Amino acid sequence: MDTVRIAVVGAGVMGLSTAVCISKMVPGCSITVISDKFTPETTSDVAAGMLIPPTYPDTPIQKQKQWFKETFDHLFAIVNSTEAEDAGVILIFRSIPTEEVPYWADVVLGFRKMTKDELKKFPQHVFGHAFTTLKCEGPAYLPWLQKRLVHALASDRKAGVEEEEAHT
Ligand SMILES: Cc1cc2nc3c(=O)[nH]c(=O)nc-3n(C[C@H](O)[C@H](O)[C@H](O)COP(=O)(O)OP(=O)(O)OC[C@H]3O[C@@H](n4cnc5c(N)ncnc54)[C@H](O)[C@@H]3O)c2cc1C
Repeated sequence: MDTVRIAVVGAGVMGLSTAVCISKMVPGCSITVISDKFTPETTSDVAAGMLIPPTYPDTPIQKQKQWFKETFDHLFAIVNSTEAEDAGVILIFRSIPTEEVPYWADVVLGFRKMTKDELKKFPQHVFGHAFTTLKCEGPAYLPWLQKRLVHALASDRKAGVEEEEAHT
């Protein structure tokens, strides 16, 4: 049977995550990542990489929550694995100056109101919530994804990642 050949355009966190995902879903396929920039030159390399989702008004909240939970659970499994350091995924304490409880409050860890003593340390905040979330550091995470992709494809004894100039 002919090898399934797949092209993924873009080598930021979206493109590389998609490519790794496909490599698992379509065993034996050949994947080419086509991009004009690769790590460390993508936007994903300079992002803070914090898992604190915005709210998109045109998408049902349950859908947004499901997507965030799947992402959180996926990265949380990495943070609890021996790969955490290589992948650049860490747990991080954050606070937000809002009274409203966001839809993702029960997905992150330990979401709670800040105490009065804690609030004193943030004089610009009248209210505050504190929680622990994940941070995914692009300069480590993108090379880690690339390595996983090459390994996944190599273990299938198929083609690796090909870097090509994009023609736009
Ligand atoms: C300063 C900053 C801080 C941020 N902090 C956070 C944060 O804390 N948390 C968070 O969730 N998000 C954050 N973001 C947003 C986050 O960076 C983006 O949502 C994420 O990087 C998008 O990933 P991507 O793979 O879609 O895009 P990119 O990383 O931009 O990758 C796009 C890829 O496509 C390629 N490409 C684009 N156009 C073409 C073309 N025409 N032909 C060929 N290749 C092309 C590019 O070369 C690149 O490889 C931040 C962004 C910035 C700038």
